[in-house]
Amino acid sequence: MRLVLIGPPGSGKGTQAELLVARLGLTYIGTGAILRNAIAGRTDVGQAVGPMLERGALAPDAIVNDIVAQRLREADRPDAFVLDGYPRTYAQAISLDALLRQQFLTLDAVFHLTITDEDAVRRITDRRSCANPNCGGCFHLALRPPKRAMICDACGEALVIRDDDTEETARRRLREFHKNTDPLLEHYREAGLLCEVPAMEPVETITANIAKALRK
Ligand code: AMP
Repeated sequence: MRLVLIGPPGSGKGTQAELLVARLGLTYIGTGAILRNAIAGRTDVGQAVGPMLERGALAPDAIVNDIVAQRLREADRPDAFVLDGYPRTYAQAISLDALLRQQFLTLDAVFHLTITDEDAVRRITDRRSCANPNCGGCFHLALRPPKRAMICDACGEALVIRDDDTEETARRRLREFHKNTDPLLEHYREAGLLCEVPAMEPVETITANIAKALRK
């Protein structure tokens, strides 16, 4: 099973990806997490994209295409995976199509998590993320609170507000999302892969709706 999750910041993409990984045994490939790890590790890529992520801009297509291509060309590349936050532009979708063809792989479905901008901003500003770059734990003060205040349930590290989770940056990221993503959605609609999933339902309902769509 190979899935793509598309959704604006705050739509709960990361949370759904995590649940699908556990439920379907998929490998998680999240470009946001890979870029944040590169920034934390001060790699060349990290230094190049750090300021872009901080101001809510997208990283260049060439960099993210390369990250995903490297991952899917590895000898032990995963056969079943969920792509979280990639592709995010039409050019990235075309690059992914070519890469998958080259690797004799196809996608099973592309899920678009839908949410209004105002709901997304509220979700983002109430989000708390694990400070451990290898963990990726993600919580919400009201909807998915950690068991102990400001401590990650998964690894026990402190929870922090991500640098790009301020209201101003959230609004900029939402503008970027709308500008880039509509042509992308059309591409997958035409390919018969797109499935829209309302993202304001309870977390478990959204996962159940995705699972139901996959059984069809
Ligand atoms: P995310 O964790 O998916 O919300 O991504 C966090 C940030 O990483 C985004 O706001 C972008 O700056 C950058 N990013 C992640 N994935 C991509 C991508 N596919 N293309 C360009 N930038 C990306």
